[in-house]
Amino acid sequence: MTTTGVTPAAQAAPSVPPLNLAASFAAQRAELLAELTAVCDSGHYVLGPKVEAFEKALAEYCGARHALGVSSGTDALLLALMGLGVGPGDEVIVPAFTFFASAGVVARLGARPVFCDVEPRTFNIDVAQVERLISSKTRAIMPVHLYGQLADVAALGDLAQRRGVPIVEDAAQAIGARLTPADRRSAGAYGLSGALSFYPTKNLGALGDAGALLTDDDALLERCRKLRVHGSGHTYYHEQVGGNFRIDALQAAILAIRLRRLEAWTEARRERARRYTALLESSGLSPEFLRPPPEVRGRHVYHQYVCRAQRRDELVAHLRARGIGAMVYYPLPLHLQQCFGYLGHKPGDFPMSEEAARQVVALPLYPELTDAQQEAVVDALRRFYQPE
Ligand SMILES: *Cc1c(COP(=O)(O)O)cnc(C)c1O
Repeated sequence: MTTTGVTPAAQAAPSVPPLNLAASFAAQRAELLAELTAVCDSGHYVLGPKVEAFEKALAEYCGARHALGVSSGTDALLLALMGLGVGPGDEVIVPAFTFFASAGVVARLGARPVFCDVEPRTFNIDVAQVERLISSKTRAIMPVHLYGQLADVAALGDLAQRRGVPIVEDAAQAIGARLTPADRRSAGAYGLSGALSFYPTKNLGALGDAGALLTDDDALLERCRKLRVHGSGHTYYHEQVGGNFRIDALQAAILAIRLRRLEAWTEARRERARRYTALLESSGLSPEFLRPPPEVRGRHVYHQYVCRAQRRDELVAHLRARGIGAMVYYPLPLHLQQCFGYLGHKPGDFPMSEEAARQVVALPLYPELTDAQQEAVVDALRRFYQPE
């Protein structure tokens, strides 16, 4: 508080947090609280009618025959692989540049993650290289639609057919991404199965952990449905060893309400992404800073708006000092993670993944982001490259 009534802060650029989850809740507060109350009053807290209703709506939205609500995106991936019987001695091909869970689930089942480099433009698995990695032990290929842009699902589908290896999609960041506007299918529904995450920061977020598995395959669905509850078809009779991968009714009820808004939120993300691109283009930034390429494959749902920068860490520190929540997803590729040391990889094995890890920077992007905040982000970028 100052006595003049005009604070320097009043003229300063707005701060731009990396996320704004409370604002998203506030926008639907009454509706969400009413639904939470209804679930609390119902006495039905795990699986049950709210979960089934959400699964139906989700399958329809994604263009898959079935959706199975589970405890997290990680558990959806784990369940998809368990449903295929992946275990010790098996191999699963995964990109070297992705969130840890994509490969973590493979290792947890005792199988070997076989890393593949990524395409420089989209950061997604390089399908030309996948083919060379397929062996007699390959049980699945796991593309990750990183940042909300589809991997080359057409080429992967073709490869899967020719080589008889199923595709399990990690669609945690890409709900609603589709090849063409007329495509009934969307991310997670192109492969034999796909995993979605509803972690609160994802495009469709719960108020805690949740996820879903998508598939058209009736037999796989039934195996996974049992594995979700310790491998039991009838309570207390176990056909296989599964786990507790159940979703809460509270989360499903919230997600069902939010799913109805998802198209509008996705369009808001896309509109803000276009605006960033236009602002960056007209700001004459240094060639050291590369804005993202245009959409390469179908509808990008912009879970993140990711650019590349030389001197990335210096840039991130500069932005953060100015209240801009720039983030790095992800600073170390998976083949160089300590826990995968036993796989024997070394720097240089996956050059595109390593370069991405050195260069990527995500600018804040969410439906609630204002024009003034976007201008503040681009202005702070300009100051880094053209210091006064
Ligand atoms: C978030 C995420 C996951 C894991 O989802 P959780 O719900 O956090 O378990 C897996 N893969 C990718 C690419 C993700 O972004």
